[in-house]
Amino acid sequence: MPPFLCAVFEKKKKMNQSQKKPSEITGCIRCGKCCAKGGPALHREDLTLVKGSAAVEWRNLITYRKGELVHDNVKGGLTCLEREFVKLRPAQEGPACIFYDSDLCGCSIYPSRPLECRVLKCWDTGKIEEVYCQERLVRQDIIQDSKTLLQIVGEHEKRCSHSGLRQITQSQDMNWEEKAQKIVDMLSTDKAVRDLVAQKAGLDLAVLDFIFGRPLFMTLFQYGLSCEFTGSGWKLKIASNP
Ligand code: SF4
Repeated sequence: MPPFLCAVFEKKKKMNQSQKKPSEITGCIRCGKCCAKGGPALHREDLTLVKGSAAVEWRNLITYRKGELVHDNVKGGLTCLEREFVKLRPAQEGPACIFYDSDLCGCSIYPSRPLECRVLKCWDTGKIEEVYCQERLVRQDIIQDSKTLLQIVGEHEKRCSHSGLRQITQSQDMNWEEKAQKIVDMLSTDKAVRDLVAQKAGLDLAVLDFIFGRPLFMTLFQYGLSCEFTGSGWKLKIASNP
């Protein structure tokens, strides 16, 4: 049978299997539902994947910084991060893991898949719950060989942190105009640092989401704000549906 037909039949078989009720599943049926929800956070055991073996490049990673609101796949619901973590970034079209091949319903780095993927059993979540929050990697673990980059990350964190942004938005001592100006200054610094590092180091733009986390403007929704970048700078708005 031609390979493309094998792939079609294989996909159909998996789609039929994925119709099973959760209680009927006792082993991995490769339905792809776990990979479609998003990539895993990385743990100490995964360090060799991002250093040395190069199975996973920096452009495949994304950092969620301290103070960001993120969806907790294990506990469910939104949670405000007490510590940053690094995970495999989502594909451009949606939340699915960047290494998920939706045509083949499979993982394109299966032999090198990270710890969470290896221990996840959707029919028995005990092991994933055990390792989920343990020894998560932070940026410093991965870029510790470049002192210059670490300094830039530290400086960016001082000037564009979520705790700083929260302080401004919750301040009782400033009126809206003063707050808006400070937030716009922070958005401008965040953008300027990213642009400068990308330009000077000739980096793939996707790498910036790992080095500096998600652009600050993309996280404003958690403060009930939104913004757009016009030719003359940032225009800040109070979101209609915070
Ligand atoms: S690394 Fe592979 S197994 Fe893990 S979520 Fe991504 S596609 Fe799925």
